[in-house]
Amino acid sequence: MSAKTITRFAPSPTGWIHVGNLRTALMNYLIARKAGGEFILRIDDTDPNRSKEEYVDGIKRDLDWLGLHWDRVERQSSRLEKYEAAAQQLRDMDRFYEAFETPTELDLKRKKQLNMGKPPVYDRAALSLDEAEKEALRAERGDGVWRFKLLQERIVWNDGILGDVSIDGASVSDPVLIRGDGQILYTLASVVDDTEMGVTHVVRGSDHVTNTGTQIQIMQALGGEVPQFAHHSLLTGPQGEALSKRLGTLALKDLRAQGIAPQALLSLMSRLGSSDPVELRTDMQTLIDGFDISRFGSAPTKFDAEDLKPLTARYLQTLSLAEVADAVRAAGVPDAQATRFWDVTRENVTTLHDLAGWWAMFSEGAEPVIDDEDRDFVAEALELLPQAPFDDNTWGNWTAAVKEKTGRKGKALFMPLRKALTGQQHGPDMSQVMPLLQVVKARGSA
Ligand code: GLU
Repeated sequence: MSAKTITRFAPSPTGWIHVGNLRTALMNYLIARKAGGEFILRIDDTDPNRSKEEYVDGIKRDLDWLGLHWDRVERQSSRLEKYEAAAQQLRDMDRFYEAFETPTELDLKRKKQLNMGKPPVYDRAALSLDEAEKEALRAERGDGVWRFKLLQERIVWNDGILGDVSIDGASVSDPVLIRGDGQILYTLASVVDDTEMGVTHVVRGSDHVTNTGTQIQIMQALGGEVPQFAHHSLLTGPQGEALSKRLGTLALKDLRAQGIAPQALLSLMSRLGSSDPVELRTDMQTLIDGFDISRFGSAPTKFDAEDLKPLTARYLQTLSLAEVADAVRAAGVPDAQATRFWDVTRENVTTLHDLAGWWAMFSEGAEPVIDDEDRDFVAEALELLPQAPFDDNTWGNWTAAVKEKTGRKGKALFMPLRKALTGQQHGPDMSQVMPLLQVVKARGSA
């Protein structure tokens, strides 16, 4: 066995990848990088009807955005002969058989077994068909499916997350590896690839545990080295509710469009479900160094997309103007104002999308908020406010004058003025806001 650690992320390009896929991708990526090994992006596209190029592109774009760079790409659709060869090998060793039951027949068998209190495992009726019977069935129904004949013994492995796992081979149906229409299924393709590509570690979701049992037997039949498996728990919503139906709304491309920072996603997903705390990590090497799969537990992991916002906000606070210059410019801020604008807003934005709102407020003025009991006070104060442009001293000078004239002080002085000028109760330091503020809508309206 080669000493080099090789992992792979193996999405099927049948949809946009989401946070659940990211968990898988990230763990495999971090394991490879930590060991100085190799990370393969494997596109599982043996299903020509459901696989789409736009999803392949989407997967690459998402991984690029996150900085999860792969060492090479493999595509199952260009490796079909290898799977055929493996299928033939299984036939030759009598571990592969053709079966002709229709889905309805299989369903009926399952129901009968369940009624009798038996596990719904395929009864291997096809094994007793002779050649003439198979010919007749083929003529009537077309080619059958090909099933792998499992050894009915316990399949055990030491899982990187679940610990010792044991599956009774007799409790699992012989898996179909080739469909009636000749399509090779993922179960076989994946075994061939993992073996040939020398994959040493496979991390994937716990929905694959039974698959792993059968794949270990197929690997052993084909003489392949069995990798180290680890199955992470599935994500649930914040209340523990199933997330599977909502994952469609948690596509990485949508989170990107919402302005979530990749650093926020990586920080959360590399720790969520482990005994390590979630902390903002802005560089990949720190994530790599701190990653330890044995710290992840098998319990379902609660995921709340809202958690990505404070992490994104915290990340943005670490950025210099140079790092956000494009976004600041895109928000309409003139270069001459950019430094002050970023100083004022960096602690007051959740995502960079918020910049445009801030700039609109400064350049067009905010809708004033004036409580009834402050109406006269604000009107009096605004008479003392000089015309824009304002400068660094405007707020201090103005509020001192207002205090002098009205006798108000502290919160009763500052809060109504802040609300009248910005429409908000909280926000950046007003002496910093004033030089950016070009229009005071409250003027004249009181
Ligand atoms: N294409 C499979 C999936 O997306 C890959 C599973 C695996 O990692 O083996 O579920």
